[in-house]
Amino acid sequence: MNEQAVANAQVAKSEWTELQRDIAGQLDPTAQSSDWRDWQWQLKHSIRDIELLEYMLGKCFSSQEQEQLRRTVAKFPMSITPYYFSLIHKQAYSTDPIYLQSVPSSLELETHSEEMADPLAEDKHRPVSCISHRYPDRVLFYVSNACAMYCRHCTRKRQVGDRESKPGRDDIEQGIEYIRNTRQVRDVLLSGGDPLMMDDEFLDWLLGRLVNISHVEVIRIGTRMPVVLPYRITDKLCRTLAQYHPLWVHTHFNHPREMTEAAAESLAMLADAGIPLGNQSVLLAGVNDCPRIMRRLVHRLVANRVRPYYIYQCDLAEGLSHFRTPVGKGIEIMESLIGHTSGFAVPQYVIDAPKGGGKVRVMPNYLISCSDRHVVLRNYEGMIVTYKEPDTYTPRSCEGGCERCGLDPPESGAEELDAIGIHQLLTNTETTEALVPASNERAHRMH
Ligand code: SF4
Repeated sequence: MNEQAVANAQVAKSEWTELQRDIAGQLDPTAQSSDWRDWQWQLKHSIRDIELLEYMLGKCFSSQEQEQLRRTVAKFPMSITPYYFSLIHKQAYSTDPIYLQSVPSSLELETHSEEMADPLAEDKHRPVSCISHRYPDRVLFYVSNACAMYCRHCTRKRQVGDRESKPGRDDIEQGIEYIRNTRQVRDVLLSGGDPLMMDDEFLDWLLGRLVNISHVEVIRIGTRMPVVLPYRITDKLCRTLAQYHPLWVHTHFNHPREMTEAAAESLAMLADAGIPLGNQSVLLAGVNDCPRIMRRLVHRLVANRVRPYYIYQCDLAEGLSHFRTPVGKGIEIMESLIGHTSGFAVPQYVIDAPKGGGKVRVMPNYLISCSDRHVVLRNYEGMIVTYKEPDTYTPRSCEGGCERCGLDPPESGAEELDAIGIHQLLTNTETTEALVPASNERAHRMH
């Protein structure tokens, strides 16, 4: 870029819209455009109480509504960045997807018998306080309990914003030690809360410790910052992260309106730093439960170098019942995506199974039937076709003789695990013929 182009870019960066200036002025009469783009200013001026919310919305809740909202916020905290608040369409706020994701609702106080405080049983899978080890080769590392915005649909509502359970340096050290001592862990997902609430120096220290563990092959960061506070993505942060490749970032856009110019700029900065980007959406009633909305969203994501990764079915967490849709809605959305748009723009639809069952893919069924010679398939248009199986296939069995197959052991030294579950039934048929639930009465009687 020549000098003039750099100067123009700086001017463009310092500009703000009239709406942003008005919102900033309501929160801080001395605010400048540079403050608006300062993530610390945004955090300091986030909307956290009902009175301020009413003032900013230009609306008075009834005394009953106020009371219910106060109770809601006492149980599940509120924090809305001025930036995210500026995306609300105030003229139709009660059905606005940005409003619904950020502003508390008294419906969050309703409890239903199927709901759980910890629906994914994450707390039961914690060998140490800030690690959840649910899957064989990867762990979730909780490094922060704070978020820039407390999403109303958060599955970890029970713990985010709870200062009492904030991980301390000792907890983090303990987590690092657990990973160091567990050689099967090759993938570490930093989560929380939002890990990017931590300052750059802390992230630098933590990532430096993790990359020095030889069997850790990849680190991922789950963050909603590009959506709710894109100014957190600074040049300095990108320089810090770029030292620790392979590092992936998963973000969380739920609606195409969240893909603003500032959001797109933050994604471009991360992508230019060589960081692969993925997106995890949650299917939410009233927010994105529509094939057209989801299609627009995935198109905006890929246009900004973000691979749509998952659409989650809304969890059975307390306070989320008003966001839940039938699973059929998710299948309908997948039917509208698969084949209708580029394959790499199609996320996987998953239910994070209660009781720690983990992610279960629930996709439309494309395999209609099969014989030993043919497989019958249907495509996205409803066309039914047959695929002929090969006449000459020599089954290949794996006895772990990897040298014969030319497969080198993992360079990182990460421990390889034996097959479990259905994979075990398919591969270790000599030793495993059935998987029987521990509570199966008939099996107990037989013993
Ligand atoms: S950013 Fe993530 S962890 Fe934080 S409130 Fe939103 S969904 Fe929950």
